[in-house]
Amino acid sequence: MTARGERPVDLDSSATTPVSRRVLEKMIPYFREEYGNPSSPYDAGERAKMAVTEARLAVASFLGAESREIVFTSGGTESNQAAVRSSLLQRPDRRTVVLSAIEHSSILGLADEFERNGYRVRRVRPRPDGRIEAEDVDEAVTTDTALVAVMWVNNETGAIAPVGTIGEIAHRKGALFHCDGVAAVGKVPVDLSAVGIDSLSLSAHKIYGPKGAGALFVRRTEAFHPLIPGSQERKRRGGTENVPGIVGLGEATREAMDFLSSGVEPVKRLRDRFEHGVLQMFPGARRNAPAEEAVRAPHMTNLLFPGIPGEKLLWFLGKKGIRVSMGSACSAGSVEPSHVLLSMGLTREEALSSLRFSLGRQVTEADIDRTLAVLSEMAVTVGRRVS
Ligand code: PMP
Repeated sequence: MTARGERPVDLDSSATTPVSRRVLEKMIPYFREEYGNPSSPYDAGERAKMAVTEARLAVASFLGAESREIVFTSGGTESNQAAVRSSLLQRPDRRTVVLSAIEHSSILGLADEFERNGYRVRRVRPRPDGRIEAEDVDEAVTTDTALVAVMWVNNETGAIAPVGTIGEIAHRKGALFHCDGVAAVGKVPVDLSAVGIDSLSLSAHKIYGPKGAGALFVRRTEAFHPLIPGSQERKRRGGTENVPGIVGLGEATREAMDFLSSGVEPVKRLRDRFEHGVLQMFPGARRNAPAEEAVRAPHMTNLLFPGIPGEKLLWFLGKKGIRVSMGSACSAGSVEPSHVLLSMGLTREEALSSLRFSLGRQVTEADIDRTLAVLSEMAVTVGRRVS
């Protein structure tokens, strides 16, 4: 609750989400009554193993994959790093890596290390609206490319990449295609039986599951070099399984499937109402995201408030119990401009005057109107200063 007793408004669901009641209830028994180690050869171990198997089935069917293609991990960061490192070991004769310039830091952060190890890293920039174009990827990929990594949905703008075409481009040149699916799953339909993705990462805490749990899809036709060797997860990820976390992730994917099948129209309408309100209120305000509905995720937008420091807006909204972000939470501790916005061609000042708004399932029309009302106070203050 805020100081005035109001419910906080969470417009930062891309940073994280609360564990849903349904997920929490499913997890609880696995902390105490059903605390067995899945590797133990007696009844409690068998039941824990069964719970992990059921969760694996849920994640696999949610993604259009097979159970044996799912490896449980500690989250998106581990999944991304495991997949990228494994892909390079899979194509040892190739020395080029193609990454989009808007990847999450868990992938982009590896680029320096790869360059030190003799790899050439080619970064594909987005178009001014944040979209990665297939033809730009095509230009960067050669027969020396070991790996192409492009995220499905960008976590700062919501731009959707043409992952089907990118998969074809990578495969035509014999490269592997890794896709960070963290911002896509639960927001847009993800069907891995229909696209040529070799590995895809996801994270439970972005879809109303627990933090510290995630999964990596690895296509059955590809070998996998584990980041953490050990006997668990069919020798793909060592360490005693995080059984409650895995159970939570499984249930979160079931719930996400229900959410997606009931339709994303309501959240899209709220997002549009919000966007429209802001664009009308602030002269020169702009959307840092694609205009076309087919290539943007329904729940988010990124807006430029010209001449107003984003930090100031963030603080003002925060004081009123409204939570938003300047970019990915992982870089929110610093006031560095977003690498995603800079790569779209925004100036440093523009990037620092932009905010990301990501609407979770619990956001209501009243929340949007309250946020617009708070922003209008800000708009009036700015207007007064300008005039
Ligand atoms: N990829 C994207 C697109 C993300 O937004 C995040 C979380 N900020 C991650 C990867 C990392 O996921 P996790 O927090 O589970 O490590």
